Amino acid sequence: MAEKKKKRFDNGPCPICGRAIINLNYITKLADGTEVCPDCVNKIRVMYPLSYGRKKGKKKTERLDPIEALTLDEFRAAMEKAPEYIEKLRAKYGRNAVYKVDGISMYPHGWFHAPYICAKGRVVFGFFDIGDEVEVIHLGVPVRAKIVDIAREYVNEKGCDAWFRRGEGGYPLKWMVFSQKDLVISPGDLIVKG
Ligand SMILES: [Zn+2]
Repeated sequence: MAEKKKKRFDNGPCPICGRAIINLNYITKLADGTEVCPDCVNKIRVMYPLSYGRKKGKKKTERLDPIEALTLDEFRAAMEKAPEYIEKLRAKYGRNAVYKVDGISMYPHGWFHAPYICAKGRVVFGFFDIGDEVEVIHLGVPVRAKIVDIAREYVNEKGCDAWFRRGEGGYPLKWMVFSQKDLVISPGDLIVKG
């Protein structure tokens, strides 16, 4: 008897780590159709940064994920290389986390406060959380600053991972927010931690 296909909460075990793939998150499908859990995806995300844009001939902005082009074997190989890859980035920058700014938006924050500076960009590697003390390297000069808010870039994306209020290596952020007198951030600047 043919099994009735119905939407399940649990999509079965992840072929990499064996944990159940829960339907509440965005589920990454590899080139050969294999589904991999978000934890495993996050481990190699630094090597395959996620972005959003328009695919050829399409009007809608959508998720452009280079991981979807990998086979399961290629995914496994990337898992092995990821720790060394991150170590190299740490050595290169001499930091534990780096964010690259692509664009800036400013919003008023009341009469007595410095305006909100919202820095759109990408986490090159490492983690950023709300409240973190970081350094904004503007034109080569580091200035101390504190992260007021973080929001991930997403386009009507399914799953709670889109609502993550944390910056993680390889993920674009809609904004990393600051509000501080005399703070200047421009596209191309780096925001670093540790
Ligand atoms: Zn997994």
